[in-house]
Amino acid sequence: SDTAPINVATPAPRRSRQAQVVWGSRIVTVGGDAPVRVQSMTNTDTVDAIGTAIQVKELAQAGSEFVRITVNTPEAAAAVPYIREQLDRMGESVPLVGDFHYNGHRLLTDFPDCAQALSKYRINPGNVGKGDKRDRQFGQMIEAAMRWSKPVRIGVNWGSLDQELLASLMDANSRRSLPWDARQVMYEALITSAVESARRAEDMGLDGNQIILSCKVSGVQDLISVYRELARRCDYALHLGLTEAGMGTKGTVASATALSILLQEGIGDTIRVSLTPQPGEARTQEVVVASEILQSLGLRIFVPSVTACPGCGRTTSNTFQDLAKQIDDFLRAQMPVWRVRYPGVENLKIAVMGCIVNGPGESKHADVGISLPGTGEAPAAPVFIDGEKVLTLRGDNIANEFHQIVENYIEKRFGA
Ligand code: SF4
Repeated sequence: SDTAPINVATPAPRRSRQAQVVWGSRIVTVGGDAPVRVQSMTNTDTVDAIGTAIQVKELAQAGSEFVRITVNTPEAAAAVPYIREQLDRMGESVPLVGDFHYNGHRLLTDFPDCAQALSKYRINPGNVGKGDKRDRQFGQMIEAAMRWSKPVRIGVNWGSLDQELLASLMDANSRRSLPWDARQVMYEALITSAVESARRAEDMGLDGNQIILSCKVSGVQDLISVYRELARRCDYALHLGLTEAGMGTKGTVASATALSILLQEGIGDTIRVSLTPQPGEARTQEVVVASEILQSLGLRIFVPSVTACPGCGRTTSNTFQDLAKQIDDFLRAQMPVWRVRYPGVENLKIAVMGCIVNGPGESKHADVGISLPGTGEAPAAPVFIDGEKVLTLRGDNIANEFHQIVENYIEKRFGA
């Protein structure tokens, strides 16, 4: 038989250039050997400086490493320095990214305090104007980036594609000089728009390391096709996201599917999960999903992992699901403090299992694990620490006792 060792799957490396997104002493590197970054975007009216600053802080605390805000009017541009000021006062140094469309050239020129307070500009080459005007207006934004030493993301989106470029490619295609179908023409237009805009910016003098590209589409297979080719054609850092992914499970699954395939191929230096919040759902959910994608792939570790079985006919009650959720919620809630107090605690692995079938085995693989009793089993819950069974919990207070065991373990292993 074939006894060659089975390869351990690991994401492929793609060596991109490295951009620096800076605010004060905080430097967030993107691309190169930097970890894949999580980012998100506010949905507040930027003119509401306080409301926007509060949401930026919430997103940052949830794990967004830079936060994009809409800058669409003179009033919004005027509010940006105040938002920055509010954040600085709150002790929040997360870099802000300005999202510009149509009038970004004017806003970045007329509002220098705004241009300065932002740490990065997002430029959409599909809506900076047409013909000569387009070149001039795009140029004004690149000049602002050079004047204030800011990186830019040249972000193409198929909902706002450069219509002149698309028309010329369609024309070439209809004359059959290009044997492509409509979808392939669209892919080409997206990639050409991004790469040519980046080259134009470099020709103007912008440091190529300070350019990040994105070509967002809303279909999973389309995103994979476009980014594979985009990554092949350039070495700029890439921002990855499935645009308009949708709500709830659909948006989460579609984003995770598309992003995981590309990230496994080494494509993507920063990601955003664009979820439409459902009523009552926090904006921060998209940051949680983005972080989970990276953690699931083993690319980043943000929080301790809690392994729990799905439960089945052997499960006697909801006790183990409740305990798994309590432990998971508790660990996540503690992380802002514990990250500092217990360095390395994010590597912790907990298992909460529902019966003897996989409970002891899975618990032994964890740092701390518990196997709750299933149907027909004695009312006893063995606890495993570092792969060894150390005690058995019984009675009505199992959840609290297990909590205490986990906390003691953390203090002993990660405490100073
Ligand atoms: Fe069911 Fe036990 Fe497996 Fe959990 S560990 S899914 S309770 S058989």
